Amino acid sequence: MSVDPFVYQIRLYPDPILAKKCEPLIKEELTDELKQIIEGIFPLLAGNDGYALTANQLGISKRFFVMDGDTDGKLVCINPEITSKKGQTKIVEECLSMPGIAAKTSRAETVEFQYRDLDWVLHTKTYTGIEARVIQHEIDHLNGMLFFTRLSPATRSMVQPSLQILERRAAANV
Ligand SMILES: [Zn+2]
Repeated sequence: MSVDPFVYQIRLYPDPILAKKCEPLIKEELTDELKQIIEGIFPLLAGNDGYALTANQLGISKRFFVMDGDTDGKLVCINPEITSKKGQTKIVEECLSMPGIAAKTSRAETVEFQYRDLDWVLHTKTYTGIEARVIQHEIDHLNGMLFFTRLSPATRSMVQPSLQILERRAAANV
């Protein structure tokens, strides 16, 4: 697996890699080099005042994300899967790949999810609140989905001008 030397540049909407479903990471791909790259995501996250970042937000189309949560601190979640959801909540969400956009998004209130850590140990955890929402947001990313696609038509039309600004900015840089 080759990794882009600009791995620590956060990809912004409408970068096509964000719209592509990521492939599962296989154990053999988790080399010392990749582990080092993954550890390097935490300072980037802190520097951007972020809560979590997925591999594809950094140009790697593989299923993992890192999260610096309130409950368990720094987590690396490889091949994460939500195994059950409960309740519903609607809270303002933001995304480091869509700066300037914030909108109320519907999510399950509680999620149970499974992931592997850097030692390939399988974990099953249940989260409620901010972590539950973040996990759903990040797994959407790994499925090539950005949160604006989950907005109601009315809210979506409100964020449309901000999306167009990002589109124009990307087009100007090509
Ligand atoms: Zn995001």
